[in-house]
Amino acid sequence: GGAEKDEPTFGGLTREEAWSGGKGKKKKKKGGDAEEDDSSGTRARMREAQRRLRGVKLQYTGDRPITFADVAGVGAAKQELSEVVDFFVRPDRFTRSGARVPRGVLLCGPPGTGKTLLARAVAGEAGAAFLSLNASEFVEMFVGVGASRVRDLFAQARGMAPAIIFIDELDAVGRVRGGAQGNDERDATLNQLLTEMDGFGGGGSGGPGGGGGGIGGGTGPRVVVIAATNRLDVLDPALVRPGRFDRIAAVPHPTAAGRVELLKLYLRADDPAERRCEDTGMDWARLAAATVGYSGASIAQAVNAAAIAAADAGADRISTEHVLFAVENDVLGPARPRATGARAERVARLEAASALVISLTPGLEPVVLTTVTPRDRFPLGRTIVASDPTRQETGTVSRAYLEAQLTA
Ligand code: ADP
Repeated sequence: GGAEKDEPTFGGLTREEAWSGGKGKKKKKKGGDAEEDDSSGTRARMREAQRRLRGVKLQYTGDRPITFADVAGVGAAKQELSEVVDFFVRPDRFTRSGARVPRGVLLCGPPGTGKTLLARAVAGEAGAAFLSLNASEFVEMFVGVGASRVRDLFAQARGMAPAIIFIDELDAVGRVRGGAQGNDERDATLNQLLTEMDGFGGGGSGGPGGGGGGIGGGTGPRVVVIAATNRLDVLDPALVRPGRFDRIAAVPHPTAAGRVELLKLYLRADDPAERRCEDTGMDWARLAAATVGYSGASIAQAVNAAAIAAADAGADRISTEHVLFAVENDVLGPARPRATGARAERVARLEAASALVISLTPGLEPVVLTTVTPRDRFPLGRTIVASDPTRQETGTVSRAYLEAQLTA
């Protein structure tokens, strides 16, 4: 692959830019030369595809594959997707049993919960090429040619199979067609997307049931579309018909257990050689309680802020307090100088009293944090209680609970 290396640009992008999606973001590691031999064919194809598909991020997964081990706290979604990996790795298993092969997987969940990461992990685990684009960019960038770009994208993916096409923010093109804000360009793009998804395996429109896909025997191109959205409700029902996005995996905000998984992942807690947090005494339950409502992305960010706090304090390991400090700053906003003198004492009494009464009143949620550090939005201090998932879910409270709150 030496000759390839000499070529400075392709598709108007430098190698580095193209690999990372043309946005100048640097990838951490480039592939070693050892990998180059095995994969120069794939690389050449990727390069050609990148030239044709400006605005689509192509990723060669051989460089530093993301795997399922890099994803934490997503619950059942991992299992759901490992079936897709199976399909790539052992397609015969599907065809022999007559099971319908996956064509499209829709990941539904709020931003930052790891949908993109999961899709990349599928590609990494399966050794598949990863083509990703944001649906909104797609319509904007290629106005007037959305449909033909979709065709091109799929043609390229088939040429690179096994491949994953990842479409972020699918709702940007996938909204119900002909709605009040009808948009011909978007409709044409969506129609083409549906056609392409139907066309997988070369089996024509293939009826429902197992017969449609001509993928049997591993002859058809192995391409799976993974799309992400936070708006399942606005999607055109045609998208979720069998043979299209017929698998829907929820990727919600992580549960308490999921948040602990994520914290441990980012603190490398389970790896003695790489551990970034203290060996013992990490209060995981407390950290889980303090990070209610956090996504994977916000936990990653909090750990990063905690690392900075630890460095500022001259500590070489991150402690529970460092993480709590980072979360506190994140939730409440940056700290302002504390009050002094009599005012400081009054503020301290107020917050201490709040925390004490809340803690001693039966039926109220436990105090997660109490602070006398003023913030822009909270000029005195602040006492925060854990949120009760059942109460949040049902939206109902008892009279006793309301009275307890009044007391506090
Ligand atoms: P989404 O596509 O759902 O908006 P991303 O996959 O782009 O979220 O997440 C952004 C970043 O946040 C990831 O690159 C990763 O660093 C971190 N992250 C988010 N969710 C997770 C998760 N479940 N496990 C590990 N890291 C995560």
